[in-house]
Amino acid sequence: MTTQQYPPEPFRIKVMEPIRIVSREEREEKLKTAGYNLFALNAEDIYIDLLTDSGTGAMSQEQWAALMRGDESYAGARSYHRLKAAVEDIFGFKYFIPTHQGRAAENILSACLVERDQWIPSNMHFDTTDANIRARGGQPVNLVIDEAADPANPHPFKGNMDIAKLKAFVAKHGRDQIPFGMITVTNNAGGGQPVSMENLKMVSAVYREAGIPFVIDAARYAENCYFIQQREAGYRNKSVKAIAREMFALADGMTMSAKKDAIVNIGGLLCVNDETLFQRIKNELILREGFPTYGGLAGRDLDAMAVGLYEGLDESYLAYRIGQTLYLSARLNDAGIPTIQPAGGHAVYVVANQFLPHIPNYEFPAQALGVELYREGGIRGVEIGSVMFASFDPKDNAWHYPALELLRLTIPRRVYTQSHFDYVANALIRIKSRANELRGFKLTYAPELLRHFTARFEPL
Ligand SMILES: *Cc1c(COP(=O)(O)O)cnc(C)c1O
Repeated sequence: MTTQQYPPEPFRIKVMEPIRIVSREEREEKLKTAGYNLFALNAEDIYIDLLTDSGTGAMSQEQWAALMRGDESYAGARSYHRLKAAVEDIFGFKYFIPTHQGRAAENILSACLVERDQWIPSNMHFDTTDANIRARGGQPVNLVIDEAADPANPHPFKGNMDIAKLKAFVAKHGRDQIPFGMITVTNNAGGGQPVSMENLKMVSAVYREAGIPFVIDAARYAENCYFIQQREAGYRNKSVKAIAREMFALADGMTMSAKKDAIVNIGGLLCVNDETLFQRIKNELILREGFPTYGGLAGRDLDAMAVGLYEGLDESYLAYRIGQTLYLSARLNDAGIPTIQPAGGHAVYVVANQFLPHIPNYEFPAQALGVELYREGGIRGVEIGSVMFASFDPKDNAWHYPALELLRLTIPRRVYTQSHFDYVANALIRIKSRANELRGFKLTYAPELLRHFTARFEPL
């Protein structure tokens, strides 16, 4: 067994949700009907669902109690003021609006600021951020450090921006072509890896020197701040909340999917310091989402978020949560199963092209591993590889494949226990003992855009 101890939960279970495992024969049937696409499976046919940590967390008794206090007044509800107090206390920006989720905040910000052919740099844009910038004619650019591309590299802050690249990029395009600059904490698209405070300070300085507003994609800011406390010199004795205030003081605004570190099932935030921009944001919000004091949510959702924001910063919770990912990745690594190093905040990423070296990328090794994990244990992960990211370039008439074929095992907040993670690890370890028998897949249907959601496959 692994030397990595499983962290005991800083809570006990009051309400339980039954889950069941369907028989192997049924699982085989379900896979066939789903066209071997795990997105097409029904949740009730899944035993352990590690598809995403977005909106899948367990709310606490305080959050459920807060739902009852929800004030459903159309304008100026008490719920809004309770959320406002929490947002001001934690993030410290001058203005904010609630949104129904993160991408709504991205949409509104992009609508207000992005013009055709302008550039928006980041360490790595998340796919909805990327798509919202493109939808306004803008061009998202990823300038993460090179270490991020090497799964074995144990760099403690693999989400860091490459400062030399950023400086050169800003010098080349300037304020006129860069309406704002971003950074994603933690870097979801790059393995849930954190950004250091030192790096954030440098990024802020580069943007501010050029007069470019700096916007943080803060979906997992609390996990990022916890990593700073644990890994960066000078932060051991600072609270995660104080680290968060230091981080947001470096920026001019933020977007946030509250479905992550605010531990709610639905919600988002957009914060800025600029008053003129805020006026435009409110007008966009009214057009698309709702009145500025509820922003597309029910009053009760705002109350659940206000409470969840503080619970997401609780250090015993964060130690437990990050301990879970460490535990699962250590169990896999001890058995010789390669995962992105170090373990990310919210997920363990199995390097499928190393796990299944005999399956070429055009036969989708991470897809094959994901299907096999469902077949073996009723477990659902998500492919982050060639199904999601391979693209055909008509210029050279060839397919281009991503460097990494990953199966992401995403950990919902406060939902699964040690025995669930042991079950997942044991299933993967059994698959490893017969890995050479696994075969790849061929696509039988694929739409042109975002094909992973609806593609269909046949086993080879
Ligand atoms: C989830 C996520 C988003 C988008 O948020 P939604 O609530 O899913 O719309 C944006 N950025 C990052 C880093 C995310 O993880």
